[in-house]
Order: sequence, then structure tokens, then C-alpha cells
Amino acid sequence: MPSPLTPTLQGSVGLPYQGVLAGGRELPLQGPGYRVAKPPGRNFGTPSLVSTIEYAAAEVARQRPGPPLDVGDLSARWGGQITNHRSHRSGRDVDLLFYVTTVAGAPIESLGFVPFGADGLAQAHGGPHGDRYIRFDLERNWLLVKALVTAPSSEILWIFVSRPVEALLTEYALARGEDPELVWHAESVMLQPRNALPHDDHFHVRVACSPDETVAGCEDGGPRWPWRHAPPSLDWPESEDGIEELVAGPSLAPLP
Ligand SMILES: [Zn+2]
Repeated sequence: MPSPLTPTLQGSVGLPYQGVLAGGRELPLQGPGYRVAKPPGRNFGTPSLVSTIEYAAAEVARQRPGPPLDVGDLSARWGGQITNHRSHRSGRDVDLLFYVTTVAGAPIESLGFVPFGADGLAQAHGGPHGDRYIRFDLERNWLLVKALVTAPSSEILWIFVSRPVEALLTEYALARGEDPELVWHAESVMLQPRNALPHDDHFHVRVACSPDETVAGCEDGGPRWPWRHAPPSLDWPESEDGIEELVAGPSLAPLP
């Protein structure tokens, strides 16, 4: 815990599912290309997370204008536990709803947390028109993932999302001729979590600790992806084998 007795601790402190947040930044409730979907109070994050959300939403809106990105929970003002989440405690996690279209492909506003199958379709319940089918907006969701993993403001540690949705996105990215290295990067961070909901109705994005944040108490739990900046400590495994152990080790399975 940051306190007068621990003057070196500041910002995002501890692990995403145990930590707290000091001096977080508030994500404005609306901005270019996005809106906060839930009541305010859970729209705080590290400056790097907030900047990354703003950057990615604006990039999608610039490249493919349409209905805004609906942003779900980040963290509370001082972090810590919030209802409905195990993590989201240290200002490094955010839930982003999918961009959706009509079955015919016209972009429409998100209808909330609606689970999508491997065919890219979902049945949304209720609303003025009753039940209806909607389609996963492959292009805009891919542009979002691409903007997240290339954002200059932070490194993405994980994008928790179901395996069928990940497959739809990577197949689409390769078909449209994206750089295979970029697609591999995106594919690496996208993960259907074990011991948790499959995340077939939203992306759960987690940003990594920067070296400066790590010095101030931030712990992101790894892994150390090959493209990450060198951490300030010497405790990290030096060999490729060590990295694979970090990624694959069951004891270090990430929690969404
Ligand atoms: Zn989440």
C-alpha cells in the first residue's frame, strides 16, 4: 500500500488481482471515437492505460468512422476490489465491448455484452425490435486490436478474448495482408483465459508495467514478451526457455 511510510510506492502498485492505484488518471466519459458505457466511478487507470484507450478508439474512428467504442470498467479511483471482477484492481485493466454491425454489415451501436460464436454472429435480446441477430464487425475490431498493440503509450500484456473470436480476427488480418509479424504479435497477446469466462462478449485488455512503474511498485505478472522493453531488475530469466516457462507455466496462468 502506498503510504507516508512507503514513499517509493506510487501509481499502480501490486498485481492486477491484488493491487491498488494511486494517482490514477480518469478517462473522460466521452472522447473521440468512444464513450464510457457504465456509470462513472470505475473509469480510472494508469496514465498509460487511459492514453492507450484514447489512442486506439481515435485510430479506429479515423480509419473507419462509425458508432463509438463502448468502454466498460477500468478501476476505481484508488483501485482495489470492485464487484464483478477478480482483477481491475491496479489501474491496468479495461473491458472494451466489441464493435458490431447488422447481419448485412452496417455498423450499429453496441447492444451490450452479447456472446459471439465462431460464425461471428450473436443473438441480442430485447430492445425496441425484440430479439435480433447481429454480426461481429471484423474490420473495426481488427483495427482496434492493431491500434492497441501498436499504441506508443503502453505495451499490451494481454487481450483476453475467446479462441473463436481470436481466430476470426487473425484470419481476417492475414487475408487483408497485414504484416505477419504484427499478426503474430496480436495473436500472442490474445488469449482465452483458463478458469474464467471465455470472453466471447468483450475484450479484456491489460497493459504492462513500464520500467519506471515497476520501480515504483507495479507488478504485472508477466510474461516478458520478446518485444517488451528491458525491465530494470535482473530477476528476469535470460534464456528463451525461461520465457517459455513464464508463458506456459500453469502456476503463472494469468487471471482476467
Ligand atoms: Zn475485465
